[in-house]
Amino acid sequence: MTTISKSKCGKCGNAFNDDKLYFQKHSGVKFCEECFIKDTKRKIRKNLGKDILKNHITIAVGISGGKDSLVMAYVLNEFFKQIPNSKIIGIMVNEGIEGFRNDGIEKGIKFCEKFGIEYHIATFSEYIGANLDEIVNIAKEKNMTMNPCSFCGVIRRKILNRVAIEKKCDYLAIGHNLDDISQAVMMNYIEGDIKKLAILGKSSNSDKFVKRIKPLSKIPENEVKLFADILKMDYHKAPCPYSCLSYRSEVSDIIDMLEEKHAGTMYSIVAGYERLLEHLEVPGDITLCEKCGEPSALKICKVCSFLKDLGLEKNSKF
Ligand SMILES: [Zn+2]
Ligand SMILES: [Zn+2]
Repeated sequence: MTTISKSKCGKCGNAFNDDKLYFQKHSGVKFCEECFIKDTKRKIRKNLGKDILKNHITIAVGISGGKDSLVMAYVLNEFFKQIPNSKIIGIMVNEGIEGFRNDGIEKGIKFCEKFGIEYHIATFSEYIGANLDEIVNIAKEKNMTMNPCSFCGVIRRKILNRVAIEKKCDYLAIGHNLDDISQAVMMNYIEGDIKKLAILGKSSNSDKFVKRIKPLSKIPENEVKLFADILKMDYHKAPCPYSCLSYRSEVSDIIDMLEEKHAGTMYSIVAGYERLLEHLEVPGDITLCEKCGEPSALKICKVCSFLKDLGLEKNSKF
């Protein structure tokens, strides 16, 4: 007979079977499930701050159906349903990837309906006149080189921003976790891209952009997953078929290795970056694209000129 050893939760002091406790390496604390959920919510609340958690605030929440976006929407909904005249709106973007996106959207809809969250679904077709699969094909036919991932990312951000403006939202919440942000910071360091590094952390003051917030920026990915699993959330797990994150995943492997040996590395990468950010000026030579108003080094941004080359310019709402 095997005996399962028990230990105490470092927060509530109750004893649990070891397999029911989560050991948070960087803090040295063991959490029971209940205390873990409570502590994660506390961190997210602290990260948002009093300027955001108040009356008369509407937050657009980008929902992909994956664990990050559902955990973010769940916690924000819990906070905001207790605040008078404030609410969240879920925004899903269907880029039309055959056999991939529908499952994520379905999970997003089920989630919003379960928790009574208002939601809106926008599509690539309605904003740029074609879905991603069609665009990849047009680009192929025209012998144009394109990276579906980065194109898709930019268009998704544009659509999320546009819907958030239409819905008169004060903020747009994006589900990036601590791993995502430490990877983005390190990639820009390694590439020496100070411009991107400055833009990454600063919000535009233009009225064409809804201020972006990242409520999960201090929560590591494994803890987002644990949160979703403890609450038995039904989230979309499949990776995107266009996924081409090879460089990012190399950087991610390096950070994971450091984190394993020196717990807390990801926190210090992001904390150091935040301190550095206070000294970084957003470069003044950035102009705005004449068509869509996004920051751009050229008169017409890369995406707008790409849409033009694809022959989609007349259908584009940007
Ligand atoms: Zn506990
Ligand atoms: Zn543009």
